[in-house]
Amino acid sequence: MLEKYAAGLEELARYCWAHPEPGFREFACSRAQVAFLRAQGFEVAENAADTVTGYVASWGEGHPVFAVLGEFDALYGLQQRADCAEPSPEPGFTMGHGCGHHLLGVGAIAAGLLIRDMLAEKGCAGTVRVYGCPGEESGSGKAYMARDGLFDDCDAALTWHPDNFHMVSRGSSLSCIQCYFRFRGVAAHASSAPHLGRSALDAVELMNVGVNYLREHMEDSDRVHYAISDAGGASPNVVQAYAESRYLVRSATNPKCEALYERVKDIARGAALMTGTELEIVFDEGLSNTVPSFTLEGVMDEAFREIGAPDYTAEELDYARAFKATFPVEGQLSDLPNAVRDRQALEESIREKPLCDAYVETLPSDRCGMGSTDVGDVSWVVPTVTCNTACFSYGAGGHSWQWVAQGKSSIAMKGMLHAGRVIALTAKKLLENPERLAQARAELNRRLDGRRYKCLIPADVKPHYYD
Ligand SMILES: [Zn+2]
Repeated sequence: MLEKYAAGLEELARYCWAHPEPGFREFACSRAQVAFLRAQGFEVAENAADTVTGYVASWGEGHPVFAVLGEFDALYGLQQRADCAEPSPEPGFTMGHGCGHHLLGVGAIAAGLLIRDMLAEKGCAGTVRVYGCPGEESGSGKAYMARDGLFDDCDAALTWHPDNFHMVSRGSSLSCIQCYFRFRGVAAHASSAPHLGRSALDAVELMNVGVNYLREHMEDSDRVHYAISDAGGASPNVVQAYAESRYLVRSATNPKCEALYERVKDIARGAALMTGTELEIVFDEGLSNTVPSFTLEGVMDEAFREIGAPDYTAEELDYARAFKATFPVEGQLSDLPNAVRDRQALEESIREKPLCDAYVETLPSDRCGMGSTDVGDVSWVVPTVTCNTACFSYGAGGHSWQWVAQGKSSIAMKGMLHAGRVIALTAKKLLENPERLAQARAELNRRLDGRRYKCLIPADVKPHYYD
């Protein structure tokens, strides 16, 4: 029964909403969650994988070992007043929980408490671990934790993400490498002595041109994005001696991502050669594609069907209606989740209702979504499954002011606790049917086909914070 924990969990989530922090700097949220879990009798190891804010909270002994994954980082530029259905920055804030991670971390704790109670009641062997995973939005905390072997002895990893829908998440996600290309040239007067200068900005521009020509010769699921993070200053009459770009390279699998990254690095080297500048490549972060587990998805689907969706009050429906009205319905319809069984019914629900009030059935799929998540790194090591619960109205999706504004609402809290229940029932089914855990492991081995997990982050790169 989660009811006895509900008030404490909701208070913790609201505290995290009110303390939005960037990846690897989630000091307040990490401290609060660690204290909460210790008070509940969990043994907590802090500074997991040298991430400072990451933690592993454990209860019980022996196998099966259930890993429940939580997150707690926020996003810059999304400061927004709670419950306000128009853009209105929260005074004094520079960040906001635009991806609902204040709910994600606490929902994982909710699941951890329920699994703990189930193990205690049955008196059987088994361990539940709540992983406080830092830096999902930037930093790839789970990749460092996987690289350090923190999931190696787990039997199943269960997680969730706040969303506009109640569903089991399907399909894969892209591998991703993020890095900086830093060019160093020679400053000179751009008009009177240009022959003495070597322009780092030229190198940045030529590299971008080269990469834009590369696009025609990439696979459809490859993605490359860049930002000029330092253009070398605002003076056109100075040959820029330093310039820097930040690149994101994505592909369907880790080996493909590494190969594409090599091609992008070659273009950078070419740009340096053309301009007579020096090139430095600084690896920032890397995360792996998600390996689906149809076996665990099937078990979670059974659990979600049994529990269904939460009930909503008339007041909550009115609240959701106000936020739905701030976003064009065509926008939501153009961005439906992967592998929905009855798309027409979902489209009707989105047109007619203020929020998702029923379980949305999805089908097994290997289709690769165009996003990336560090849950992927965990999924290479241990069979992993994710559900979504509706914590927000229909309308705007993740990374929006609307999600920040609704983050403290009773709808958000219901979605969070609901995720805890779905994850816990999934764990119960696995505990009672250990052959399904064995099937999940066999499926993972089959999918990896002899490949072993190799973290994309080089061994000498430590968890770090870049603004
Ligand atoms: Zn997120």
